[in-house]
Amino acid sequence: MTIATIDPTTGETLKEFTPHTPAEIEERIAAAHAAYLELAGTTFEQRAGWMRAAADILESEVDTVASLITTEMGKTLATARYEALKSATGMRHYADNAERYLAPEQPVDPAKAGASGLSVRFDPIGVVLAVMPWNYPLWQAMRFAAPALMAGNTGLLKHASNVPQSALYLGELFERGGFPHGAFQTLLIEGAQVAPLLDDRRIRAATLTGSVAAGASVAAAAGRNVKKTVLELGGTDVFIVLPSADVQRAAELGVTARVQNSGQSCIASKRYYVHSDVYDDFAGRFVEGMAATTTGDPRAESTTFGPLATERGRSDVHELVEDAVAKGATVLTGGTLPEGPGWYYPATVLTDVTPEMRIFREECFGPVACLYRVDGIDEAIERANDSDFGLSSSVWTNDAAEIERLGREIDAGGVFVNGLTASFPAVPFGGVKDSGYGRELSDLGIKEFVNAKTVWQA
Ligand code: NAP
Repeated sequence: MTIATIDPTTGETLKEFTPHTPAEIEERIAAAHAAYLELAGTTFEQRAGWMRAAADILESEVDTVASLITTEMGKTLATARYEALKSATGMRHYADNAERYLAPEQPVDPAKAGASGLSVRFDPIGVVLAVMPWNYPLWQAMRFAAPALMAGNTGLLKHASNVPQSALYLGELFERGGFPHGAFQTLLIEGAQVAPLLDDRRIRAATLTGSVAAGASVAAAAGRNVKKTVLELGGTDVFIVLPSADVQRAAELGVTARVQNSGQSCIASKRYYVHSDVYDDFAGRFVEGMAATTTGDPRAESTTFGPLATERGRSDVHELVEDAVAKGATVLTGGTLPEGPGWYYPATVLTDVTPEMRIFREECFGPVACLYRVDGIDEAIERANDSDFGLSSSVWTNDAAEIERLGREIDAGGVFVNGLTASFPAVPFGGVKDSGYGRELSDLGIKEFVNAKTVWQA
């Protein structure tokens, strides 16, 4: 893929970048390794100071950064601004909590291990490669960067090829905050250049957020080299509505759940399973809400959501809709490609979706919801779990027994009750099955890339 900023509202190429040469890549790996050795001599307090200074810089530049994100991938300016500020919050979270999260632990009384002293330390492991997607250009990368740097690791970011300027901004931000040169850098390289980097002994691990294919490729290269990976991949999250739910609220947030970020969110709800007792009420409100959204200029305040980020992304979405319609799905709203420039796609609701349609199983990375009627909680859970993915879920009920059961039986990395799935710095995030493994955020996230080292003393 060409590394370039292409405006999704017009399709115009605004800026192209030449990929780094092998010599430039080597220079950055060497700097990352040297910075790791330098960070070993620093304290949590020093690193927290630099992290907070970098967060201050980001906050002071929020309008410029938000505009850059909107230009590169088309989300509304308001949501880009929110993303930049959320990233700064994530940085402060790890500045404030990393030392506590990584405090040495004593798993048992040392006498039980035949020791006079026993502790488990959480030491950094070195340079970590981070392969990141364009849909939240800052926040996705920050979820890795902030904990990694606070743990004392260094990072090399291979960002998506369509957000190079966001990537370059991130590649300078931490050094501007005070971190040593090389602590966090951007590599301008293409996807195919990633796997060979795992052969370099200075790169100790990798994290990837993106598609299943990209994740499998990076994990295979890491596996050959006995290096750890964390994978945050796709999802076809469910939105389950049961009779005791506040249907009006569920329908309102059900729309947000599907159209947020123009539908290009791994944790966007994609499959809606609604109990037959409340189906008509929910469907009426939900379809009306989806039809009332507006897609258009991401800089206009009246716009609900902007264009899709890439031309290919839009054609992938429309192909899934066309395939479903050709095989008998009913379009309740949307479903047609708008005329004119820009990669816009309307909020779309499909029903009568059956297993032979691709969208029944595949992830649709755009504002298209599939609406299904179910006869009870058993069927809702069974159909929710009949998926290759298991990222998160949003369930709507006020029945305590149902809440307990959904929490236990839904096979996913998250169950959000009477609310949307969202990521919070202090709350673990990640999936099961094809949605990946490992966790980001919280104490679990920072512990993914550390050496849990036992120190035993006779
Ligand atoms: P993608 O094609 O997999 O791209 C993601 C990143 O991987 C980009 O930096 C891309 O670089 C790189 N890449 C692509 N092929 C690669 C390969 N063979 N080896 C190494 N790197 C490779 O994903 P996308 O379609 O743009 O992004 C959407 C996907 O990400 C969806 O499936 C979505 O659900 C998932 N996602 C998951 C989460 C989560 O937290 N679980 C969050 C956000 C998105 P290039 O741009 O140069 O190709």
